[in-house]
Amino acid sequence: MDARLTMRIYAPSGVRQIGPLRASIERHDDSDGAGNDRGCPPMTTPLWAGNWRAAVVAIHEKVLKKWRPWSDEDRRFLALALAGEVGELANLVKKDWRGDAGNRGKLIREELADVRIYLELLAIAHDVDLDEACLAKVYELQRRWPEAAGVADRALREEEGQ
Ligand SMILES: [Mg+2]
Repeated sequence: MDARLTMRIYAPSGVRQIGPLRASIERHDDSDGAGNDRGCPPMTTPLWAGNWRAAVVAIHEKVLKKWRPWSDEDRRFLALALAGEVGELANLVKKDWRGDAGNRGKLIREELADVRIYLELLAIAHDVDLDEACLAKVYELQRRWPEAAGVADRALREEEGQ
């Protein structure tokens, strides 16, 4: 693993992002299934289950070396990769709109996932917590549109079961 590149991806508050990744790796290292001396339980669930962000960060680190030297500029590389995936998605939507033969539901689902994954990696590279950023945006939208006053608060309270 390239420490310099890793620092660029995670630093500084990205440590929050790497926490679940480390936890998952510790679980994975528990190859005999008996738990380990750090208190990790025996692995009973598939690796990365429920933690797709940590998984894609780990995969990104592994495969990134293939694309050097371009990938050394991680932010630019990720921005271009994101644009590429948005293009793939738009092309599928275009074909659907045009009425080309074939059911593109599965392909569109896959491209949407590609877009979200690269967006998340780009956010991490810029030290942005995308969940926090989206939440801030929701409140900004609520302020901007008077007819939506209180809507976000109610939706978030309902989501949290309050
Ligand atoms: Mg794609």
